[in-house]
Amino acid sequence: TLLPPGARVFVAGHRGLVGSAVARRLTAEGYQVLTRDRTALDLRDAERTAGWLREVRPDAVVLAAAKVGGIMANKTQPVPFLEDNLRIQLSVIAGAYAAGVPRLLFLGSSCIYPKHAPQPITEDALLTGALEPTNEPYALAKIAGITQIRAYREQYGASYISAMPTNLYGPRDNFDLETSHVLPALVRRFHEAKQDDAERVVLWGSGTPRREFLHVDDLARACVLLLRAYDDSAPVNVGCGEDLTIAELAATVREVVGYGGRIEWDTSRPDGTPRKLLDVSRLSKLGFHTEIPLREGIRSTYEWWLTSS
Ligand code: GDP
Repeated sequence: TLLPPGARVFVAGHRGLVGSAVARRLTAEGYQVLTRDRTALDLRDAERTAGWLREVRPDAVVLAAAKVGGIMANKTQPVPFLEDNLRIQLSVIAGAYAAGVPRLLFLGSSCIYPKHAPQPITEDALLTGALEPTNEPYALAKIAGITQIRAYREQYGASYISAMPTNLYGPRDNFDLETSHVLPALVRRFHEAKQDDAERVVLWGSGTPRREFLHVDDLARACVLLLRAYDDSAPVNVGCGEDLTIAELAATVREVVGYGGRIEWDTSRPDGTPRKLLDVSRLSKLGFHTEIPLREGIRSTYEWWLTSS
């Protein structure tokens, strides 16, 4: 079987939004999760990463470690978004294969697809056109990761696979306003405006771009399903199949937080890609459907942030 019951799974990036959710889900399903703190193991260091993987020889690896961030972080720090991600992928994927790890799941992102890909975006849109410039370094690193997974499959017959999640949110997300993605930023901005009795909240861009949002606990269930059941070189999109405009998202977050003031748009900030809705039929055929509606997910994420900050 692809993932034996009780398998020992190394989750790279277990402190992050994605890795922590995958680790929780694997534990809940009876798998043994192995982790290593960033201070003990820098995954950009290929030699030490290979050494650790050789030592523990897990049954599977989930590669959820990555340098990630929102539209401004990508714009202001293109070097680590390209280099850290390439390095982490080289260390972990090559190190896992050298250690004889039979199974690996690599997590990419929906921003790997061309800026003007037909919507909803199918997996075969990959490399058919130019990328969105605001996150091209990150996207190129992730595309290299997909190619690396395919190369290990083709050359060595490794059961390594890739999943492409849409925009994710949930507990352990980054709420720093300069580097976060839009959803946690909106939660924070509306919360602070409510507390300060502010008349207005200023958001970035025009509010017209469309985005799809998936709660990270839904992604984690998809990851376990893929590890158990999927073994093909084609990446698999993971999303909920629905999108909304940033203005609609803002209205929802404002309601959940309970803020009564105005919303203004700062159009000097970038909009990014106009739309990125994933076609999720490949995943649906494996029997997957999402369980957490957006409003409910925003509410629980808001609560998590209030109690953790
Ligand atoms: P993207 O999906 O890669 O473009 O990254 P983001 O999640 O950072 O941004 C998504 C959209 O939300 C963009 O059009 C942003 O301009 C818009 N947006 C509106 N307000 C904010 C904000 O306060 N922070 C962020 N990160 N994006 C915002």
